[in-house]
Formats: sequence, structure tokens, C-alpha cells
Amino acid sequence: ADTVSLPAAEAAVKAAYERYRGLNEGKNADYIPALAKVPSQLFGIALVTPHGQVVAAGDVGHAFSIQSISKVFTLAQVLQESGEQLVEDAVGVDATGQAFNSIVAVEQHRGREMNPLVNPGAIAATGLVKGDSADAVWASISRMHDACAGRTLSVDAEVYRSESETNQRNRAIAMLMSAYERFPGDPAQAVDLYTRGCSIAANARDLAVMAATLANGGRNPITRTQAIDNRHIPGLLAVMATAGLYDDSGKWLFRTGLPAKSGVGGGLIAVAPGRFGVAAFSPPLDAAGNSVRAQKAIIDICRDLGANPYAVTPV
Ligand code: GLU
Repeated sequence: ADTVSLPAAEAAVKAAYERYRGLNEGKNADYIPALAKVPSQLFGIALVTPHGQVVAAGDVGHAFSIQSISKVFTLAQVLQESGEQLVEDAVGVDATGQAFNSIVAVEQHRGREMNPLVNPGAIAATGLVKGDSADAVWASISRMHDACAGRTLSVDAEVYRSESETNQRNRAIAMLMSAYERFPGDPAQAVDLYTRGCSIAANARDLAVMAATLANGGRNPITRTQAIDNRHIPGLLAVMATAGLYDDSGKWLFRTGLPAKSGVGGGLIAVAPGRFGVAAFSPPLDAAGNSVRAQKAIIDICRDLGANPYAVTPV
């Protein structure tokens, strides 16, 4: 079956890049001090097909912290090790209707009915990754990210330090989720490894390969390695569709029909199942915490390529 035509993808990516490169709206995240310092004008878009073709425009080689996008790949690791039922039982898969770092959301349901793509669920998911030591857990989490990216990613040490010094709220969430027995083990370890995951540095091209791995049934289209078991992809994409863009997840789905995940570093990935993975990077965020230019660019690209799976031609 046809995935996406390369000339069409090239035209769509180039057009979106040209259309938004001069757009100067939004503001870098600054609650993590290191993120405020990333140059706001950086802008890159990359698209990868299931056949491993790469289309790119702009600053696609600039590495930045992937932040909440790592939640997807940590969840992939938990699904891989323990399956869907554990995730449903321990963390939940519904939108919380609250902010991504809400403590109210935890209290409402005693830590259940969370979602692995908001902080309480993501910290608990990190705590559910198997391993006898922090190093062993981290090895599994980073191995999953690397397998999906097709190369060894590193941690941005400055972002990790900056976020570790300012993540009192996440530490409180970890304690609370631990008090509600949502994950075993040390909550301090879970929040530390969660923070490390958020600090993983990747560029837009890496993220597009990661998105394309999800679009290609879990097989990395460049390395051809099966990074995630095929059977876990539908659930993973469903959670992204439900809760990938904070409080604007519904708006995003309304506009694109596609599972996606943003990070406060300015990255955004979207997955057109069977067709392509796309990523964009631009640090300034809107009020909901999503990159302004990355959203606009990906919405246009998905429209130009007819990627909304809900749009069908009547027979
Ligand atoms: N590390 C960030 C936090 O926990 C991630 C936020 C995000 O990208 O949504 O606040």
C-alpha cells in the first residue's frame, strides 16, 4: 500500500517551513530555567516514511530536551515489559481533565484514572519499569528511546540539573503516587529517572524517526529493528490521541485526527499510522504549553498529505 509520496511530503514540509519560519509568537518555557535560554528562533521540521525516507527543513540537527515526549517511550517500555493490563490498573488511560502536573487530579482518584502522559502517571510509569537498581531501570528506559531513534541519545546535563533543582512539585507528585501504591519502590528514584528521561536530548530528525517507528508498527524504519512489539502500538497511540497535547489534546485531535505528543522544550511528534512520522521543533509555547510553530507546521503538513484517518472517501 502507498505510504506517502516523497515529492508530496517534500512539498508539504518545505511549504510549512517557509510559511511559519518568520512567525514570532509564544514564549519559551521558563519554569525550568535552562529551557528559557534555548534560542527561540530555532525551527526545524522532519518527516520519515515507513520506508526510511527522510524529508527535512530548517534546524533539524539541533538537539534539545525532549521533555514530555519521553513519556511515550517510557510507557512503551512498561507495555513491553508488563503489558496493557498493568498500565490500565496501576495508572489508568483516561484524560484527567486537569493540568499535566495536577495534584488535584491525583487526589480525585487516589492516583488511579491517571494517564501515563501526564506527570503523575508518567512518574508512576517510570517507577513500574523493572530493574534491581536505578542504573538498571535507566538502562531499559534509555535503550527504548535509543532503539526508536536509531542512535544513542544522551542526556542534556544542564537541563537535567536545572530541572532537578526546581522539580519540587514533581517530587510531591511522586510521593503522593507512592502513598497511593501506584508503583513499587522508591519515589525519589522514580522522579529522578523521570527527570532524566525529560532531559534526553534529541533533534527533530531523531524525533521524526521515533514517530515513524510508531507509525510503522513499532519497527524503526531506518535500522529496521523492531523497537516496540507491534501489539502495543494501538494502545500507545490511543493514549497519545487522548492526552498528547495537555489541555489542548481535544483541539489537536479535532484538527488533525492524529496521535501526537508535545514537550515543553518545544518539540512535537505526530504519527500518521502506516503513512509517516513527523516532528517539529520550535521553543516558544502557547498558553497550553505546546509549541506554536510546531503545531501550525504539523497541522498543515498533515492536511496537505491527507493524513487524517477519520477522513474517508465514500464508496
Ligand atoms: N519535565 C517537565 C515537567 O515535569 C515535562 C513537562 C512537559 O514537557 O510537559 O514539568
